Amino acid sequence: MAGSPGSAGLVLVLNSGSSSVKYALVDPDTGERPLSGQAENIGASGGSYHDALTRILGHLDDRGHVDLAGAGHRVVHGGERFSDSVLVDDEVLDAIRSFSRLAPLHNPASLAGIEAVAQVRPGLPQVAVFDTAFHQTMPPAAYRYAVPQEWYTRHAVRRYGFHGTSYRFVSERAAALLGHPPAGHPPAGHPPAGHPSAGHPSAGHPSVGHPSAGHPSAALRLVVAHLGNGCSAAAISGGRSVDTTMGLTPMEGLVMGTRSGDVDPGLLGYLAEQTGRGAADLTDALDTRSGLLGLSGTSNDMRTISEAAERGDERAGLALDVFVHRLAKAVAGLTASLGGLDALVFTAGIGENSVLVRSRVLARLGFLGLAEDPAANAAHGQTSGGRISLPGPVQALVVPTDEELMIARDTARLVSAER
Ligand code: ADP
Repeated sequence: MAGSPGSAGLVLVLNSGSSSVKYALVDPDTGERPLSGQAENIGASGGSYHDALTRILGHLDDRGHVDLAGAGHRVVHGGERFSDSVLVDDEVLDAIRSFSRLAPLHNPASLAGIEAVAQVRPGLPQVAVFDTAFHQTMPPAAYRYAVPQEWYTRHAVRRYGFHGTSYRFVSERAAALLGHPPAGHPPAGHPPAGHPSAGHPSAGHPSVGHPSAGHPSAALRLVVAHLGNGCSAAAISGGRSVDTTMGLTPMEGLVMGTRSGDVDPGLLGYLAEQTGRGAADLTDALDTRSGLLGLSGTSNDMRTISEAAERGDERAGLALDVFVHRLAKAVAGLTASLGGLDALVFTAGIGENSVLVRSRVLARLGFLGLAEDPAANAAHGQTSGGRISLPGPVQALVVPTDEELMIARDTARLVSAER
């Protein structure tokens, strides 16, 4: 069983991109990582995935006997087919291949990684963990675009959402920090703050407030903002995704490092007319030269933007303003999708580290019942069980994400269930 320490073995977690393979050897029980690294210059312009995996597995052999339970792969697109992680077989490989049209840069790299492991270590169980899977619980009202029906039926045009592995990890952790199982029914003897029997919540109260006060068994309603190089936010009710900001591709929604997020779709035809440039060229500009980089003209990195804005750089200041404006609007929209909010959770590079972004977003969302605790926010919630808000009807938390650990746990779970 995966639950007994050590017995499940270690998991090789692989994230195969178009030009690199990130790898980590992860203990699914403890989260320890005895080995991790990145192989560069792979793919079209460099070496093969097979050579990279031979080297990576060679590093493992150098360490003597490693009890490897399996390999877990991050796969970007699982289409409508995969709502959970799966053991890889030929049929799963075919399905991942069929979704390459939806993720032309990412899925072929994942396939190459899986095939390389199969060649270098035949018989090693492999698991695919999809960025899209967690969002398969979204209702049609959230995932359908108002476009001609055959775009959906023939071309699979719908909203899928991404960062699902991170959302699963962070929402489970947030529920635990809040003392509230995701689906409701907080543990006996832990009356939630705000519940009639709990008295008044106070600063530093160990249980970080309760959701729907007066409805202790109600589903926990979270908005999680995953703010990394790619940024998205998701509405999670009772541990299930009900809405998210990314769509058919990871370009929809929030402002990101180099991606525009939402724009008027009419902009493409207008610019094609004005500039004579084609769809692929314009889409590339929205993907790689927009976002914080496009607005600031200098950087896609939130640290650089924040420092420049504080020095009075106007374009960096505007980039930050647009980023915060769009994020605050998205959180309010996702709150409507949930029918109310118990906690707003920040994660990933910007979410875990930017006191400024969190502070400015919370300042915009006072009307939802959120209020920043400046000292707790400055400490990234590290001394307050993740909490960065003052006691009130809605909490704000910082919860570091760990997608590698989630992939390792899924792999151990599926491999041990198969045995
Ligand atoms: P990825 O999506 O590639 O995993 P990360 O989650 O590491 O990326 O997030 C990268 C982003 O986090 C960058 O915009 C970076 O500027 C931002 N970031 C990291 N540390 C800080 C910090 N101390 N303050 C503000 N932003 C930060």
